[in-house]
Amino acid sequence: MYMGYGDGSALMRTSNFHEKSKNEGDKRVRTILHCDANSFFASCETAIRPEYASVPMAVCGSVEERHGIVLARNELAKKYGVTTAEPVWQAKQKCPSLVTVRPTYGLYSEMSEKMNKIFYDYTDRVEPFGIDESWLDVSGSFKLFGSGKSIADSIRKRIKEELNITVSVGVSFNKVFAKLGSDMKKPDATTVIPCERFVPIVWPLPVSDLLFVGSSTQRSLNRIGVYTIGDLACCDEKVIRNNLGKNGILLREFARGNDRSEVTVSGYEPTPKSVSNGMTFRENLKTGEDISFAVTYLSMSVAERLRRHKLCCNNISVTVRLPDLTSFSHSAPLSHPTCLYSEISKAALSLVYAKKAFWEEIYSVTVHAEKLTVEGDFGYQQKLFPEAWEQKYAKSHSLEAAVDSIRERFGRSAVKIASAIDNRLV
Ligand SMILES: [Mg+2]
Repeated sequence: MYMGYGDGSALMRTSNFHEKSKNEGDKRVRTILHCDANSFFASCETAIRPEYASVPMAVCGSVEERHGIVLARNELAKKYGVTTAEPVWQAKQKCPSLVTVRPTYGLYSEMSEKMNKIFYDYTDRVEPFGIDESWLDVSGSFKLFGSGKSIADSIRKRIKEELNITVSVGVSFNKVFAKLGSDMKKPDATTVIPCERFVPIVWPLPVSDLLFVGSSTQRSLNRIGVYTIGDLACCDEKVIRNNLGKNGILLREFARGNDRSEVTVSGYEPTPKSVSNGMTFRENLKTGEDISFAVTYLSMSVAERLRRHKLCCNNISVTVRLPDLTSFSHSAPLSHPTCLYSEISKAALSLVYAKKAFWEEIYSVTVHAEKLTVEGDFGYQQKLFPEAWEQKYAKSHSLEAAVDSIRERFGRSAVKIASAIDNRLV
């Protein structure tokens, strides 16, 4: 699923596709997999509610809001012609019996994490691309797990058995063609594009199938007579440069199979400037209990991410969206830096209530941790005579850090806030 980046040039700038391999002289043929979950949101919902498997079903933004579009649909809905990103009313015209489900974002990130965990059993070189896709460099995994194709097949089988969802896998010698391969056969299939035989497989395909060729790039290419990936590969360098600039030259290299960008080694996460978590819950938040649950739920992951980066925040803000889609933000400084969910949620909650005059029900809420500083900068841990709050802080910190390590070992669902179990909001 490659969506929403326009012509892809912004994504190309921010990704590592411009970079050359560190070992430029290294001409070894690599084996790269691109794994892409099929109808991911719909599959996740079906994995926990098997009754959806036998009916046409679509995960949609809420029907009454302007976000009433189809985010994902299952194979049965697809047979009725229901497509991703179409308005719900239109989908229901095509398929009156369509069952619509609101998205459960917490579930998707949990499934995504589990999927990536399976990938790590085969290689430590995993680069997630969005929530339901990842590249894997398995060049070093042959001895243990066999060829690229057999690794791909084994991954598909495990994800199907363990998570109840299907993936399509492309196997090739670079990231761009691996991605292309995962789009060629769906659902639940492996497509191999080998180095020595890529031309008859890849070149006849429409140029828009190539990663980063969005609709505006496609129009520019069509204008100079480039319709297939083969046309692009054989296009005159001057013509490409004059019409599409440097990115055009890069795309031509991709078409020729010359993408040397590496699968980013796992574990790398740039230090964030602020950490936020927001969610539209399954129902509008009405009661005090609802709101306190929502804010605590969001604050937990904000705090966890702060701790992972060894950061504290000095400012909290909340953005609240109302059912009429108007929104307001409110922020306040904290009395001391923190990375504790108990303190973050308390501050966020009082910000929401400080604006109580503005709302009766809440559609979505986002908690932002801002003005980040390095944890321990203020030295509460090292003091000989800590103040009472500092002692309390240190105690809570070790408790929350313990929860982090349990989750790291046993998965996110190992420790949940009690109110999250069977809560109708998530
Ligand atoms: Mg997908």
